[in-house]
Amino acid sequence: MSNYVVEVNNLSKTYKGFKAVNGVNLNIKEGRIYGFLGPNGAGKSTTIRMILGLIKSSSGNIKVFDKSLKQNRSSILKNVGALVEAPSYYGHLNAYENLKIWAAIKGVDKEAIDNTLNLVGLYEHRKRKVSKFSLGMKQRLGIAQALIGDPELVILDEPTNGLDPMGIKEIRNLIVDLAKNHNKTIIVSSHILSEMELMVDDIGIINRGKILYEGSLLDLKAKYDSNLSLEDIFLDLTGGK
Ligand code: ADP
Ligand code: MG
Repeated sequence: MSNYVVEVNNLSKTYKGFKAVNGVNLNIKEGRIYGFLGPNGAGKSTTIRMILGLIKSSSGNIKVFDKSLKQNRSSILKNVGALVEAPSYYGHLNAYENLKIWAAIKGVDKEAIDNTLNLVGLYEHRKRKVSKFSLGMKQRLGIAQALIGDPELVILDEPTNGLDPMGIKEIRNLIVDLAKNHNKTIIVSSHILSEMELMVDDIGIINRGKILYEGSLLDLKAKYDSNLSLEDIFLDLTGGK
């Protein structure tokens, strides 16, 4: 039994000879917030889509909850919640109704919806049409969708994309709350390294399909001058390439 919730070994994805993901290894520990960081086009979403079984890998292995994804896809995915790209929802329905549909799809009791709305701070807005929501509220509804069914592992692909500083802070507080108080393991990707520094425990830094560093944020910082930001460290790791 390994103590990793997700173990990715030598994972690659090739698009017409172009290696979007190139020999990636990831080890994600239980109960941690794992920042999957790298610039646009680095291979974050492609890796996440393979972990979620949404696209096939060209080579490599993925284990989730200590089981091979290939052999146990549906049982694994029942216990994984995800927000990928822009969440889809029905604008003409309210937040509660949207989650009710999602709960039905997932085969989950609708009693859990109020709790989830509370958790993401949308309970008081539950009767508002989603088309009237701010972008931050829509992102939180997307996270609520990911949380329906109370999965152990939550994967959020760029959940702060397009948000203002206040919206980013709200998402950050929510992610920290989920990991610290609700026993979730969270993978959160972002191309904005400075945003992640404030919430992640561990990081995987990816650039041009390859992992440049994986480990705790503190260990990485300890290797450098303590005044350096994660962005400075990234520039050092890539040599500006
Ligand atoms: P990130 O999420 O880190 O911004 P992506 O994983 O979306 O990066 O993309 C990694 C690379 O793979 C990019 O160069 C992108 O253009 C390419 N790519 C992603 N999806 C496809 C696809 N379906 N066909 C061809 N190239 C793709
Ligand atoms: Mg992406």
